[in-house]
Amino acid sequence: MADGFCSPLDITQIEKNFAAIDPAMTAAEAAVEANRCLYCYDAPCIHACPTQIDVPTFIKKIATGNLTGSARTIFDANPIGATCARVCPVEVLCEGACVEKTLLQKPIEIGRLQRYATDDAIKNGKQLFTAAEANGKSVGIIGSGPAGLSCAMYLARLGYAVTIYDKNEKPGGLNTYGMAEYKMTQAESLAEIAQIEGLGVQFRTSTVVVKEIQQPDQSRGGAENEAESNVRKSTPVSIRELRETHDAIFLASGLGKTNRLNIEGEELKGVIDALAFIEQVKTRDWKAVPLGRNVVVIGAGNTAIDAVTQAKRLGAERVTLVYRRTEKDAPAYEYEMDLAKKDGIEFLWQTVPTAIGGHGCVMSLRVKGPGGGEYKIPCDLLIRAIGQRKTWDFFTEVCEVAIDEKGRVIVNELMQTSDPQIFAGGDCVNGGAEAVDAAQMGKRAAAGIHFQLFGKRVEFAGMVSKQ
Ligand code: SF4
Repeated sequence: MADGFCSPLDITQIEKNFAAIDPAMTAAEAAVEANRCLYCYDAPCIHACPTQIDVPTFIKKIATGNLTGSARTIFDANPIGATCARVCPVEVLCEGACVEKTLLQKPIEIGRLQRYATDDAIKNGKQLFTAAEANGKSVGIIGSGPAGLSCAMYLARLGYAVTIYDKNEKPGGLNTYGMAEYKMTQAESLAEIAQIEGLGVQFRTSTVVVKEIQQPDQSRGGAENEAESNVRKSTPVSIRELRETHDAIFLASGLGKTNRLNIEGEELKGVIDALAFIEQVKTRDWKAVPLGRNVVVIGAGNTAIDAVTQAKRLGAERVTLVYRRTEKDAPAYEYEMDLAKKDGIEFLWQTVPTAIGGHGCVMSLRVKGPGGGEYKIPCDLLIRAIGQRKTWDFFTEVCEVAIDEKGRVIVNELMQTSDPQIFAGGDCVNGGAEAVDAAQMGKRAAAGIHFQLFGKRVEFAGMVSKQ
């Protein structure tokens, strides 16, 4: 494993490798594709979208040249519509439900059309919504990822003073730090967030919410800190201060660090977490990006696929994905898996890691294969991608809210936790799902907070009341 960056590829080639795999549509392509849409009555694509974007309406607006109106329809139902246009698993959501998807026909390219309209609005600095007159209430949001951003936008539109606290240097959470580079860049995430800032939402980044303010903890080890490179310079703020400053708090802190393998050799240099790896690639600090000739990724979810494909694009000679179950059991979406296959990734199914070998740095991974026999794989960079831990302590000891047996924050239909002042949404509630699911939870939480503070029901676009 290299201490610094020494890829066989030059930076220009790497940047080319990281170029979006789905390039933006041209105006002509968008017009042709928009005109293919049948504008179905009770369109299945709307119901398949967790934020229920009015897909036929936004597509119709593209067809008639009303790009601003189209973007407004999208962002009205999903404040991170530009992100979702890039990272949503459209194959199993809107496009999977499209009536045009037949044996002979491909579905309408809803994701790329959505990107076309939202990019136009962002590129041209269109402020599509305005904040309502101040209503005198204030909300503090912990976490500026998909759920936090979504909640902030709806609350600002209702006249709330909103402050988002985030441990990272830049806002956006997973949108900014966790999406594979060939899907979305940091610049694209930050440009979308600028729209939300334009509504007067305040961001306090590099700020970590703690129970009590005390001296920084010096005791945490190197391996843990590697995954927290953006958190090191954080300023603490106490949960008491948040409670006193804000009428309501929205907890959207996501999940914690990647689970550990709990096998010998895990502390060796060159054993890293998938999210830390993706984050380092995104910051473009090439000297800090770990690189291996023989890269092994453990896990078979979408984050594992992001890690293997990025390792390959960085110039690794051999990239192997190791998964304890069969290919059929792999949680990654089929099209993500296809991408990895096209990139020449090797797969070891029904294979369990048993020990990591090396002297100071990782040199090999010992695994038990399907037949039970053990053998070693050469490996100079080992990436863990076996799911993220829930931050139980943060929920129960800092925020003092109830969690279920799996460590997820428990909420009622208003997205309110066991503490009436604290609402929650996103991965910390559902245990980890898509950005679009988190955006919808942020929307529902904004409505729940408004009901709690003003006793008024509000229905945002793409939110059908059960009342
Ligand atoms: Fe258009 Fe397909 Fe949605 Fe029908 S289902 S409205 S064809 S995108």
